[in-house]
This record gives sequence, C-alpha cells and structure tokens, in this order.
Amino acid sequence: MPPVIIPVAARTGYAVRLAPGDRIDVVNSEGAQVVDTWAFALGEPYEYLSMEHSRVAHYRLAFEPGDLLYTQRWRPILRFMEDRSPGVHDTLCPACCAASYVLFDGYEGYHANCTDNLQRVLAAEGRALPATPTPWNLFMHTVVEQDRVMKDYPSEARPGDYVSLRAEMNCLFAVSACPQDIIPINGVDARPRGIELRHTSGGY
Ligand SMILES: [Zn+2]
Repeated sequence: MPPVIIPVAARTGYAVRLAPGDRIDVVNSEGAQVVDTWAFALGEPYEYLSMEHSRVAHYRLAFEPGDLLYTQRWRPILRFMEDRSPGVHDTLCPACCAASYVLFDGYEGYHANCTDNLQRVLAAEGRALPATPTPWNLFMHTVVEQDRVMKDYPSEARPGDYVSLRAEMNCLFAVSACPQDIIPINGVDARPRGIELRHTSGGY
C-alpha cells in the first residue's frame, strides 16, 4: 500500500491514528525544522509516549534506531525504526507555550506555540489533556555539554531528511511544526517551515 502523504503547514500541528505495525515517517521537507512529536494510547484517557520512561528504558538521553519507546505505564507505544538525518533529537525540552515565549524570549502578546497546536488537534479528536507531555523534539539540536550544561544549536536537518517510526499499539500520533522564530533552533535564519507525514498502514 503506498503511503498517504500529509503536508503539515509551518507553525501548525496534525494528528493521525495509527494501528500496530503502521509506519509513520516524519519528513523535514525543507530542512532545519524542529518537530515536536507525541503519541497517545487510544482508549485511555491519558496514557502517552513518555520521554522520562523511554530514556530510563535505555538509560540514555537520546534514542537510537531499534529502540522501543514507552508510555508512562511502561507499555511500548512506538519503535524508532530508521533515522535519515544527522541524528540529533532532543528528549529534554518541554513544548513551547504562550508563556515560554514571554518568559524566555521577551515576546509581547500571543505567539503561536506547540502546546496550543497539540491541544487544537487533539480537541478535533475529542480529547482534552490535563497536561502536555514532554514531546520528543525531532531534529532539535539541543545537547548536554560539559558540566551538564544544555545548549541549543540550529537544527542541522537537511531537506528530505526523515525519521521513521512503527506503531506498537493503537495510538494517536501528533506533531507540531514548531513556530519558534525568535531564537535560531529552526535553522540559522529562525524561519519556521512546513513538514510532511508519510503514513503507511501496515508498513512495518
Ligand atoms: Zn515549539
């Protein structure tokens, strides 16, 4: 079955239901774009892909192809299958939100953000979250340096780079093309770009 191509516009989010064995590719169409990524168990009010649990499952700060990723109830929800990118993906940073643009970036007023993008696409699915889980920030070049200091660099993802994932349970997979345009995480020009999802039913 050919993949369903789902364009996701710059600064927006999208959610798609996956069944076990489905393949989902997150494609950095233009390069340099950070993609906040979540997954939620279907049929459960609030069971989600947990960065904390998935890090401890492998006792690493980052995931590698082949790794199973877990919910906060220690159930496998996704498997990281393939990485066609420079391979740097953040697991530590919370999703940006209206308040973070004010606090960290000095922005005045309302700035588009990944938290609201997620809430919007989940509301369309009839779901409301009590809190926003820490996303897996695909292509985000935030690293831990000497003395455990964290540092942001512009994403080094190239046009067409992608990460490929396999669903391990029935889940709602959600992404936000991060609207950050103040600090340069979305490339050196700090310009938010669109992305693409490629969904293949039973692709793995
Ligand atoms: Zn964001």
